[in-house]
Amino acid sequence: MRTRFAPSPTGPLHLGHAYSAMLAHEMARAAGGEFLLRIEDIDQSRARPEWEELIYEDLRWLGLSWDGPVMRQSERLEIYRGIVGEFWIALEAFACTCNRKDILAAASAPQEGAPAFGPDGIVYPGTCRQNKSVWEREDPPKDAALRLDMGLAVTRDGVFDHRIDTPDGGRRVAHFLETGAGPNGETGQITFTDREMVEDVGDIVLARRDMGTSYHLSVVLDDADQGITHVIRGEDLFEATKIHVVLQRLLHLPTPIYHHHRLIRDEAGKRLAKRDDARAIRTYRDEGATPADIRAMVGLAV
Ligand code: GLU
Repeated sequence: MRTRFAPSPTGPLHLGHAYSAMLAHEMARAAGGEFLLRIEDIDQSRARPEWEELIYEDLRWLGLSWDGPVMRQSERLEIYRGIVGEFWIALEAFACTCNRKDILAAASAPQEGAPAFGPDGIVYPGTCRQNKSVWEREDPPKDAALRLDMGLAVTRDGVFDHRIDTPDGGRRVAHFLETGAGPNGETGQITFTDREMVEDVGDIVLARRDMGTSYHLSVVLDDADQGITHVIRGEDLFEATKIHVVLQRLLHLPTPIYHHHRLIRDEAGKRLAKRDDARAIRTYRDEGATPADIRAMVGLAV
């Protein structure tokens, strides 16, 4: 078993991160497996070296040790670019010049009703997909975002390879194994359909204009390159797993086992955010808390 903790150095770690890291570490050690660390710093406008330093400090203070070298996404941009180029050549990606306002306007057009919201944000209304053929297929443009043509992706060999019968003529499905639970208690073999991916998720961003990659693409490539067998992370990423499975199938990468865990919330029931500085692990440390206090606070056995 090999798992990982993959924080973004865009602020201090809070109790939610500590829970995720401690749980993954504990599950790896209990199985005699490995626990890896990955710094998800593709967003160079938000990542800061001092936050990265604080991640190492906080994790060490919590008593967590990681195996092997730390993977840093900012050192892998060429790898991401190469894969994005392959999607581009295969016509599975299209260039998108819409800004947020354009997308919202098109998605809220009267005939569309309220815009649908999926794990990658508003379901893309398809505007730029119509212009796919006007772009040269040499290098992908750098001044546009690149989106996955989901309608095409789901028809590729090996992506949705099982059929199930339904009253309206059958569906093609893909699946992954969940050993934790999604936000609605989803667990075990999780099945999802090609139609759900096209209608409820849509043309997700593969590469952001300013970055040359996206969270979804990087996470899938990095988990494969780090040989991760079990992804342990918060239940807020449960729905995004379906995107990750589609990308794994397109790229012929193995699908790890997923274990989504509950989120740590404040007294009002709101999930913790990075800007909620009061709950930074560093603050607890400065106030004299011990790692055992942190474990107790997040409901782990001390
Ligand atoms: N970097 C993500 C975060 O900080 C976690 C990604 C993942 O675990 O897949 O929320």
